[in-house]
Amino acid sequence: MGFSLGIIGLPNVGKSTLFNLLSKAKAEVSNYPFCTIDPNVGVVEVPDERLKKIQEIMKSKKALPTVIEFYDIAGLVKNAHKGEGLGNQFLSHIRKVDAIVHVVRCFKDPNIVHVDGSVDPKRDVEIINTELILADLAVVEKRIANLKLKAKSGDKKILVEIETLEQFKKTLQEGKPDKNFQSELDLLTLKPVLYVANVDEKEEFEGFLPISIKLEIEIAELSPEDAEAFRQESGIKEPGAARLINASYQLLDLITFFTANDKECRAWTVKSGTKVPQAAGKVHSDMEKGFIAADVVSYADLVKCSAYAKAREAGVLRTEGKQYVVADGDLVLVKFNR
Ligand code: GDP
Repeated sequence: MGFSLGIIGLPNVGKSTLFNLLSKAKAEVSNYPFCTIDPNVGVVEVPDERLKKIQEIMKSKKALPTVIEFYDIAGLVKNAHKGEGLGNQFLSHIRKVDAIVHVVRCFKDPNIVHVDGSVDPKRDVEIINTELILADLAVVEKRIANLKLKAKSGDKKILVEIETLEQFKKTLQEGKPDKNFQSELDLLTLKPVLYVANVDEKEEFEGFLPISIKLEIEIAELSPEDAEAFRQESGIKEPGAARLINASYQLLDLITFFTANDKECRAWTVKSGTKVPQAAGKVHSDMEKGFIAADVVSYADLVKCSAYAKAREAGVLRTEGKQYVVADGDLVLVKFNR
């Protein structure tokens, strides 16, 4: 399965505009049969210049980028946990994602109503984070109540679970959820968060990824040449969508590896630290089950040799076993029992 992020924030901060911006980099879903088609999910291609180069060297007919999923999660407002707005509906979507993109309004436009009357990023972040905390608090309290019913039997494991949940509950009540808490409850406050400041111009906000979302949409609608010229002029070199995807990769500690044959070469996303059989399992479950070994060459070595056969001659093509940890940019050819 792919990695996914949910876009949240108060109404009118630019969430849907950001989602539309990302959707311009939308992948052709037919290439990714594992992806369900849902209007609120954007399956977005991860831009990576290395893929084209690998395609050239490996003489693959087509190249398929790796993808990352973004969910447009509307309906989060003050008192959502009490059923305001779309209420708890948003919760079911947000619980499934690997990380959260929290969009905060920093642009000043008198024509766009701010739900709380003024532009105040710090307050807005707190409103949303309070909702997440209250939503988790409800989940934790329910779980504790259920466990207490079971605990009547005096099971020690249950008593320990109640105790650790009570401790976590305290950190929620204090407004500082313990991020190291381990839980099977899919708690919202434990998910990694990327804060995006939707800014007018090139402003900086510490701890935020600044993106001028509306401006980026306008740039994305220009011809490639005009867009490039505009970027040079304005100093916004890397497109906002690419910066967001890169930051998401960092947040989730992800890397890209490649596979290639004469039909297609393809990029894949895994958590850093993934061993080669599990990485191969992303490509096909049979490759993990029947894994024998993998021929691996780093991107840099492959490019230096400029041909796969030469990489073998030069001795930079390694045969790796089950314990090998895949590195970013590796080209991996898996040998497996069918
Ligand atoms: P959402 O409710 O968070 O999904 O917000 P939308 O993406 O629907 O945006 C709300 C309104 O704000 C729309 O009219 C957008 O065109 C506008 N908007 C979004 N981003 C910006 C921005 O960076 N600057 C300005 N001036 N308007 C923006």
